[in-house]
Amino acid sequence: MGQRGFATRQLHECPRGAAPTARATPIYLTAGFEFDEYGQAAAHFGQGEGYAYTRIGNPTIEAAEHTLASLEDGSQALLLASGQAATSVALLALLEAGQHVVSSTHIYEGTRALLNDNLTRLGIETTYVDAIEDTEAWEAAIRPETRALFAESISNATNRLIDIAAVADVAHRHGIPLIIDNTFATPYLLRPIEHGADVVVHSASKFLAGHGSVLGGAIVDSGTFDAERSGALFPHLVAPGRNGTPSLAERTGGDARIAYARESVAPRFGPTPSPLNAFLIGQGIETLSIRVERQSENALAVAQWLAGRPEIASVDYVGLPSHRDHRLAAAYLPDGYGSVFTFTVHGGAEAAQRLVEGLEVFTHMTHLGDVRSLILHPASTSHVGLGSDERLALGVEPGTLRVSIGIEDVEDLIGDLAAALAQVGSIVGAARV
Ligand SMILES: *Cc1c(COP(=O)(O)O)cnc(C)c1O
Repeated sequence: MGQRGFATRQLHECPRGAAPTARATPIYLTAGFEFDEYGQAAAHFGQGEGYAYTRIGNPTIEAAEHTLASLEDGSQALLLASGQAATSVALLALLEAGQHVVSSTHIYEGTRALLNDNLTRLGIETTYVDAIEDTEAWEAAIRPETRALFAESISNATNRLIDIAAVADVAHRHGIPLIIDNTFATPYLLRPIEHGADVVVHSASKFLAGHGSVLGGAIVDSGTFDAERSGALFPHLVAPGRNGTPSLAERTGGDARIAYARESVAPRFGPTPSPLNAFLIGQGIETLSIRVERQSENALAVAQWLAGRPEIASVDYVGLPSHRDHRLAAAYLPDGYGSVFTFTVHGGAEAAQRLVEGLEVFTHMTHLGDVRSLILHPASTSHVGLGSDERLALGVEPGTLRVSIGIEDVEDLIGDLAAALAQVGSIVGAARV
């Protein structure tokens, strides 16, 4: 056979097949995979064997999933394109029209909007529990059609903690799972599954990646779905497959929940992460422990310093003994208290603006968990869609600022805040007389 044409060679003159063993995770940036033998195609479509198309499976994505499942002490993980995708897929894997979620009031605003706007339009209602320390309040909100409880391990904006074991007990008495958004704590500080949670969701865009370069999300499942106990509540997990094939629960046992999310929700709604992003999240995870350890140390030092300043009205950091949930932190956060918290400056919105504008080391942006220190004014940004009473109930006052503390030298962070606070002094002085 003579030389093939130019257009053919530009496509096919590229080595394929067995790769050397790279120590870093190879990036399989490919839409799909070749079937090496004819029968593999049918085996993939029939029994789900091997790789075919990245929306269904990709080794780079699976590498990050494997690590995350291990770090969360879960059974399996599912990587998705964003944290919002993770929460959406986790909920859609459990709930259908006519059913109900009980959620903590103290949640990410994107989650609240998903529950209030999008899921409501799909016929799924949410009841909120504000007194999240009160297990009877959780119990009282549960209806016959409730299929999940939802909370955050450390909440935005006031750093509330949740007694995961106690709320998981309430959920399990009703045969339903407790879902914990563990974005703020990360598995380095807190592993909800060890305390009884059933499903963990993450925005991997935050601490897991850490570098602030990509978006991603993850679901981690405990693998403890009990078909005997809960099959009647989740018939889609125990119903026979097509043509009388085994049900998900028969095929995957305790992993039926995440198997349904992986096989029937994520690939249909379609929030597949790019393999390149999966690689970058995997790279981030490799340094999670040292970043979060340093960030927590820095955050404690900054919070303590702020709490002693006359310009500051309050500091909502669970690492401070003055925080209402500090007692729970002894059980749930023995290795550090995280690095995202709010504080409120005397002098309201004007003082907050002056402070942000006076900072040089902190970056003014809406993100968190980055290696850099970040600051945001929630009342005019993340929480602007709420009424001022709702904001106040969530601990967001006109002078409240949220920080996400990075890995810089802590003296530089405190120095930056000191210099900026000096510029707010006049407003604060006026406000306090
Ligand atoms: C950012 C965030 C999300 C949403 O994640 P994205 O990756 O931005 O989609 C969900 N929960 C919490 C607690 C977050 O901080």
